[in-house]
Amino acid sequence: MKIGAMLGDIFGSLFKKPATEMYPFVRSDTPFRLRGQLKYDSEKCTGCQLCVKDCPADAIEIITIDKVAKKFVMRYKADRCIFCAQCVQSCRFDCIELSNDEWELASEKRQPFELLYGREEDIAALLERANQTEPVETVE
Ligand code: SF4
Ligand code: SF4
Repeated sequence: MKIGAMLGDIFGSLFKKPATEMYPFVRSDTPFRLRGQLKYDSEKCTGCQLCVKDCPADAIEIITIDKVAKKFVMRYKADRCIFCAQCVQSCRFDCIELSNDEWELASEKRQPFELLYGREEDIAALLERANQTEPVETVE
């Protein structure tokens, strides 16, 4: 490269906005269709298990607390999930979506990747039933 052209690039760059992003101090807007952490609405769930059967990564489990009262809890293993959105397609009741703003899922430990979704009292019933001693992060 000729020195003149190089100097032109150097001086031109001095007056351009930096391309560097200040993440994690400043988060950029994420695309609307980004596939982040799964969300589950237990109020609409019928317990049909279609999402579980169709998940290619064995990442979800629907646990029946009370079939007659339609009480279900989802156990979601985010570290197994490949974010394919098959479960979203399979659910006929719009219970599942992939959040476009919860995508910071890195962790040094495995425990935060296992999430229980559902009503608080149903999760409590599940934990009591399983006599689980290890703390599990829960999401309403
Ligand atoms: S997004 Fe894909 S891998 Fe993740 S839970 Fe749904 S079906 Fe399974
Ligand atoms: S497919 Fe939908 S309604 Fe059926 S168990 Fe899964 S979340 Fe519930």
